[in-house]
Amino acid sequence: MKYYDKLIFELSKEGRKGYTLPENRLKEYTLASLPEGLKRQQAPELPEVSEFDVVRHYTNISNKNFGVDTGFYPLGSCTMKYNPKINEEMAGQPAFANLHPLQPAATAQGALEVYYNLAHALAEISGLAEFTLNPYAGAHGELTGLMVMRQYHLKRGDLKRTKVIVPDSAHGTNPASAAVCGLNVVEVKSKPDGRIDVEHLKPLLDDTIAGIMMTNPNTLGLFESDILEIAELVHACGGLLYYDGANLNPLLGKCRPGDMGFDIMHINLHKTFSTPHGGGGPGAGPVGVAKALVDYLPSPRVCKADDGTFYLSHPADSLGRVSGFIGNFGVMMRAYTYILSLGKEYIKYVGPLATLNANYIKESLKDCYYLPIEGICKHEFVFDGLLDKSTGVTTLDVAKRLLDYGYHAPTIYFPLLFHQSIMIEPTETESLETLDEFIDVMRKVAREAIECPEEVKTAPHHTPVRRLDETNAAKHPILRYRDLAQ
Ligand SMILES: *Cc1c(COP(=O)(O)O)cnc(C)c1O
Repeated sequence: MKYYDKLIFELSKEGRKGYTLPENRLKEYTLASLPEGLKRQQAPELPEVSEFDVVRHYTNISNKNFGVDTGFYPLGSCTMKYNPKINEEMAGQPAFANLHPLQPAATAQGALEVYYNLAHALAEISGLAEFTLNPYAGAHGELTGLMVMRQYHLKRGDLKRTKVIVPDSAHGTNPASAAVCGLNVVEVKSKPDGRIDVEHLKPLLDDTIAGIMMTNPNTLGLFESDILEIAELVHACGGLLYYDGANLNPLLGKCRPGDMGFDIMHINLHKTFSTPHGGGGPGAGPVGVAKALVDYLPSPRVCKADDGTFYLSHPADSLGRVSGFIGNFGVMMRAYTYILSLGKEYIKYVGPLATLNANYIKESLKDCYYLPIEGICKHEFVFDGLLDKSTGVTTLDVAKRLLDYGYHAPTIYFPLLFHQSIMIEPTETESLETLDEFIDVMRKVAREAIECPEEVKTAPHHTPVRRLDETNAAKHPILRYRDLAQ
């Protein structure tokens, strides 16, 4: 066994050395010019390792990782798409990367221009009046958007509206954000075809409703074809429509949430406009609103003066700050680069290609995985486990077996509408060859589930670690390498 097959982190040996000297950006200062009181009295306690030790250690750890750069990543509801390397290059430009968030606006005009232009591009893409890019993630955008919704009702003195309607197929962050915003959640049921039941919605609508949260296509990848009627009903009762933009991908360049009647929305820049975001970050959750709500957007806002310069403003009716500064700038740079590289002429292919790829996989696998809702999906779809469940192989087993074949697992056990959900989203950026290879492997796993079920139930067999105790890992994480030694 090589040392990197085990989790050995203590590599220090007295006297070993390796260093890369950082660029001296403060050339006029030398060690001698530091005041005596600020100098270390003792050498810092650092590991003593050679350059080889460090490079191999991190390279081998990175090889244990899975990412869009190493393989296909079919997670549904997450849109883990290819992040073109030019996005990284742009985000890493020293002129942007070295900015300080507290720098005076006059010295950060380029960054503010990127913010301003991106906000306008998003407004045009989504059919809403104006965007703030300040929130740090989708869920943060939901909270911000709901705060705008609440502010709108409060400013009109309409104090009774304390409820938000959320479909039973919704992502868990929707009811969670509503609760954090101090609103009560009312659930609206789905019909057997996976779409919102308008007849169940109607009696819920009264003067205590602040609004409804929806995603379209919904978390099953199905277009909510009654959206215009739903918008009319919700507006008629005085409520607003919130659009969870995590599923914006298939609509890009085809249709716009603003035109469907939505008043507020967030976009997960890290989903729809690239930026790899495994492990919980980084992200950005810009929030867009219709004209009547613009004044309530969080501050600071980035505005353009008549002479073309950009400045930060804090309008009086704004709900105030939702983030420390003006958001996650690196993610904005990637999204802006992605949008500009596609341009108006190519962005309209994103939705149709994402939809085509999802339907291709769905149709190629539905004779071995159970498709609970037939018909054309949008960018993602959900199987309810294997078609033949007689050997007891579960969705979890299938997901674990895929790891042996070098694939990241799809999203499993979400949405909660089915017991054995397998949610697959290929995105628009994968080639036909990649999709075909994935289909072959999924079919192979389905065959194994019948022919050698134990092999699947005990998978993975070829990964550095086997089945983990995920609950324990979440409750008692080991975050320091020194804890491993004990
Ligand atoms: C990912 C997702 C969210 C939450 O977004 P984050 O950026 O992860 O906070 C909300 N709704 C849906 C449907 C999602 O897929």
